Amino acid sequence: MGELTKLVIASNNPGKLREIDELLAPLAIDVVSQSDYSISEAEEPHVTFVENALTKARHASRCSGLPALADDSGICVMALGGAPGVNSARYAGEPRSDASNNRKLVEALQGRTNRRAYYYCVIVLVRHADDPQPIIVDGSWYGEIVDEPRGTGGFGYDPHFLLSEWNKTSAELTAEQKNRISHRGQALAKLVDILRKG
Ligand code: IMP
Repeated sequence: MGELTKLVIASNNPGKLREIDELLAPLAIDVVSQSDYSISEAEEPHVTFVENALTKARHASRCSGLPALADDSGICVMALGGAPGVNSARYAGEPRSDASNNRKLVEALQGRTNRRAYYYCVIVLVRHADDPQPIIVDGSWYGEIVDEPRGTGGFGYDPHFLLSEWNKTSAELTAEQKNRISHRGQALAKLVDILRKG
């Protein structure tokens, strides 16, 4: 995709920014956050992750004049028909709060035996706001929802997302462990691969 030397990340979520920063570190790209350019958060009006990510990436690229990367992600719970899904950040309404989202999720699953869930992440990179060929990569990460929160790492729903093969929640993993296997880590690994190949 030609030489990419600087990239704006279309997110103000510190948890996400940290993870994206760490995962892109192997590439010699100057990564800046959209808050450095005083870019407002784009609306996320769409019903698909990919449309929301594309909207955010275009908005950040248009405002900064730089290539932009956006991620849209969420948690999809089988027993809830895939909810909260694209509404994960604002599941319990405004103002957005991880604590109230987690409380609502635990309540919604009371009495349910099917606890299966997955995190999904799609990442879109546009070279310019009207890029006709954005790079699109994604990743899914499977686990189950537990009532009792465990761990202090990660963000969002992590204290309630149990990985049975680790017997740990994603909030109990180190940042390196989470980045290696998470939905966002998987998507970014695909992106790094594409960028390395040029
Ligand atoms: P958005 O992509 O900014 O619309 O919001 C994604 C939301 O999904 C976050 O605010 C979290 O609630 C949830 N989410 C996405 N990825 C993760 C993760 O890695 N850990 C915990 N929660 C996540």
